Amino acid sequence: MSDTILQTTGLTKEFKGFTAVSDVNLAVRRGSIHALIGPNGAGKTTCFNLLTKFLVPTSGRIVFNGQDITQEQPAQIARRGVIRSFQISAVFPNFTLLENVRLALQRKLGTSYHFWRSSKSLHQLDDRARQLLAEVGLEDLADEVTVNLPYGRKRALEIATTLAMEPELMLLDEPTQGMGHEDVDRVTQLIKKVSAGRTILMVEHNMKVISSIADRITVLQRGTVLAEGNYAEVSSNPQVMEAYMGS
Ligand code: ADP
Repeated sequence: MSDTILQTTGLTKEFKGFTAVSDVNLAVRRGSIHALIGPNGAGKTTCFNLLTKFLVPTSGRIVFNGQDITQEQPAQIARRGVIRSFQISAVFPNFTLLENVRLALQRKLGTSYHFWRSSKSLHQLDDRARQLLAEVGLEDLADEVTVNLPYGRKRALEIATTLAMEPELMLLDEPTQGMGHEDVDRVTQLIKKVSAGRTILMVEHNMKVISSIADRITVLQRGTVLAEGNYAEVSSNPQVMEAYMGS
């Protein structure tokens, strides 16, 4: 199996003559935590949208696990195990945590849902949902209503629902955004924990988070790759410093 789980070649997205992502070659190593950073407007979100095919690239190729997925639909890509973290709005606030994770599991099972309606299967589904909640440290809150959860815990729940989709490559969209120090530390450790046996590509602004868990960093600026390397390499790169100071 190749060391590279995801490779983009010449990935480009134009919006009515404006190039938001330009000729991006991104290689994500299997099993790594890879951060995508850059000033506002650098093209990070557009890249994520291209990888999950929420947007269709203008040109370029996306290869996942050795297969060209450039022409595939979002659902096919998700089935391959490329899963973007759910937005909080996609977690049902009036459902319990257990119900939310169970729903994510049922969604993954898709058409075989009816199979799970027998009481034995429902039991298995609940067991799996509780396991996932335990994995993110929320097992004691399984029967709480989601709306009552503090913000940091909601992000942990979001990670549990993402895990329910059996990701091989998890795309995390600013996972610590808007959090206080304690929650940032907790979610950072959680990301590190769930990265075992999986690959993570994340957009993140918090340099402390990046320096503590990212194995590799790609810096985007105005749609192009400005620099790539580990934290020490990227943070000492004069062009990167300039891009951040100037933004
Ligand atoms: P980032 O996530 O790094 O802040 P984005 O990917 O959101 O950057 O945006 C990159 C650039 O592409 C920005 O200049 C933004 O205005 C532009 N852009 C993003 N989406 C669209 C769109 N649907 N139509 C036109 N321009 C867009």
